Amino acid sequence: MGHLAGKEIYQKLGDKIDNLPFRINKNDALFNILKVLYSPEEAELVVKMPYGLSPAFQIEKATGIEKNKLNSLLESLCTKGLVIDVWIGKRYFYMPSPMVVGIFELTMMRTGDNLNTKEWAELFNKYMNDENSYAVNFGKGQQISPVRALPHEGTIHESDYTEVLDYERAISIVESHKKFAIGLCSCRHEKLHTGEKRCDVPLETCATFGESVDFMVRHNFAIKVTKTEMLENLARSKEMGLVFSCDNVKNNVSFLCQCCSCCCNLLLGISKFGYPNIIVTSNFIADINTNTCEGCGKCSKACPIGAIEMIPAKNPETGHKKVPHINNSICIGCGVCSLKCSKTGSMKLIKRNQRVIHPETTYERVILQCLERGTLQHQIFGNPEKISQKIMKGFIGGFLNLPPVKRTLMSEMFRSSFLSAMKKGAVKQKKEYLLRS
Ligand code: SF4
Ligand code: SF4
Ligand code: SF4
Repeated sequence: MGHLAGKEIYQKLGDKIDNLPFRINKNDALFNILKVLYSPEEAELVVKMPYGLSPAFQIEKATGIEKNKLNSLLESLCTKGLVIDVWIGKRYFYMPSPMVVGIFELTMMRTGDNLNTKEWAELFNKYMNDENSYAVNFGKGQQISPVRALPHEGTIHESDYTEVLDYERAISIVESHKKFAIGLCSCRHEKLHTGEKRCDVPLETCATFGESVDFMVRHNFAIKVTKTEMLENLARSKEMGLVFSCDNVKNNVSFLCQCCSCCCNLLLGISKFGYPNIIVTSNFIADINTNTCEGCGKCSKACPIGAIEMIPAKNPETGHKKVPHINNSICIGCGVCSLKCSKTGSMKLIKRNQRVIHPETTYERVILQCLERGTLQHQIFGNPEKISQKIMKGFIGGFLNLPPVKRTLMSEMFRSSFLSAMKKGAVKQKKEYLLRS
């Protein structure tokens, strides 16, 4: 293959990653991250490989890299979490990692000797401290995020308890799987190295389930644990008042984060930069019983995104000077506030007036995520080397980039017919495997 010059290859790599389901902010920190993580050869391979899951022989065809060389480059990229490999049928399929969930998390989950973890942490920290890194994905009111909040068990008001579905219960998610792994929490690991970790939450918390366990364990990002160990891990996190947030899908949830307000880049994206959709809300919202509330303020201190403000009480005759006021527009329905209101039980979660639509599968989530961010054409026409596909990509990309069209497609009615057309398309292209997860 014709080689691209040093600076140019990293520009192209930035463009490639920006076309994936989670867009990137092309600031200086980003290019420094790319340069320290990818060798020029690896960068060139990622630029030329297809966007979607592809077997090695297709990547060989698309990149022109000789088979043995290609295998060793792919292995090196997978070990670094920069390419993801999945066993489907008789062989591995590969795809480039997006920034989130992907390059950031997997880099900061790496363990072993001779790793430049501190340097990576500082670079990612600079990248995340730029508001635009959040705005490129959520600045236009995008609603589909890779992550959704889970309400804590025991925090839902008894009148609404039957409204909690299995996919919203951490324990049911664990029970639905047979394989489990735990790895380092990327955000806490990053903040540990930058000196910003203020909590005493352990690093070894990040939970992976099901098919993803194979990838995580094979490449040393996590270690296998038993179901009991996983449940103990979650119980400890609940005890510490951490937010449970997981894969934004209903079926085959593959990870469950346990986040603290000081380290979690997702929570900081809400509390510091004000983009509430970074974690899609659960179907519940915090609600206070002012008749029993004692105005202690524990709920307000516990809320990880500052959604509860203690304001002067309207009726000081109760003897309480302050009452909590909940900012409904940012509450993610996690229930952490309710965990802290154990004395009076005045703070509970109640069901939202309108149910939130969480994607059924990863395929649905990726399609909707790309649709909102104008990158769907790259998922449909995954081989950047084919001229005819380039023309089609231009056509579809232009079509999807029209904001009103995007908005129409996102409306509920169009959304389901659009998704069913996309699924039929995947079957026609003999990519049924994409629909399984
Ligand atoms: S999202 Fe939360 S649990 Fe996941 S890596 Fe970040 S802080 Fe850790
Ligand atoms: S923790 Fe409970 S009692 Fe204390 S202010 Fe909050 S709602 Fe009221
Ligand atoms: S008020 Fe805060 S702690 Fe309570 S559910 Fe909403 S986001 Fe979670």
